[in-house]
Order: sequence, then structure tokens, then C-alpha cells
Amino acid sequence: MSLYRIGHGEDIHRLVEGRPLILAGVQVPSPLGLDGHSDADVVFHAVSDALLGALALGDIGQHFPPNDPTCEGIDSSLILTHCYNLVKEKGYRLGNLDVGLLAEAPRLSPYAEAMRENLARLLETDKGNVGLQLMTNEGLDAVGEKKAIRATATLLLERTSL
Ligand code: MG
Repeated sequence: MSLYRIGHGEDIHRLVEGRPLILAGVQVPSPLGLDGHSDADVVFHAVSDALLGALALGDIGQHFPPNDPTCEGIDSSLILTHCYNLVKEKGYRLGNLDVGLLAEAPRLSPYAEAMRENLARLLETDKGNVGLQLMTNEGLDAVGEKKAIRATATLLLERTSL
């Protein structure tokens, strides 16, 4: 396979009462959290799909089926680690990652560095290889109406042997 592989992933989860808000492994104080079968970490899901997509390994729904009871409430860092292990088994490592996180509320900038640190640790890379853009959706659509949070991830994998 080629020296470099590009990957892109996206995810969106609904904001509901009675759930914690966990973004890139950081629990953010919020009256609403993301709904989902796992801990609904929309950032880790988007990055996991980007890792799988880069090597045409399917999507996280195939690797962690939503109807699988063993995935109930799963910590999404385990999903991300599983996907990155597949990448390493295929002879690749992360070059760099750029994440977009779209949320109208709460304000996420106080948590951005902790999110980047979690991503860098799990992907065994320097924090300088992990970009994070925090955005609102300008009041538009489900994200803008505070009904959902969306994440996108674009990344480059490099082959570990030349
Ligand atoms: Mg998801």
C-alpha cells in the first residue's frame, strides 16, 4: 500500500438530559449530555472512523455493532484504541490529525488542551500533531439549536516501513 493514506470521519449525537457530556475523553460540566449506546463520545467516534476509513477497514458500526450488548456504555477510548491497533497491525502510524468540534453550548475552549492531550496519548503522538477546531453552528440546524453535537476528523497515516 502507499506511503500515505488519508482518512475522514464524521459523527453526530443528540443532546439529552440525564447523560454525562464526554468529548475526547473529557467530562465537560453540562446540564445535557450525548445520547448513545456507548458513552457517545462523538470526537473519538469521528477519529475512529477516520482511522478505519484511511485503510478501508469499514466503519465503527461494523467493529462495534450498536445491538451488541457488550458495547453498552463502553468507554469510547477503547473503540479508538482498538481502531488504532488495527492501523498499527497494517503497518501504519498517525502522521497528523485535525478535528472539528461543532457545539453551540457549553463553551468548550477551557477543555480543548485536555482533549488534545487525550487524543495524542491514545494515538501515541505528539500534541503538535493533533489539531482541534472548536466551532458553533451559528444557531443553525440541530447543532445550532443545541439539540446535538457534531465532530469531524481528517487525518494522515504514514507507513512505518519504507
Ligand atoms: Mg457515534
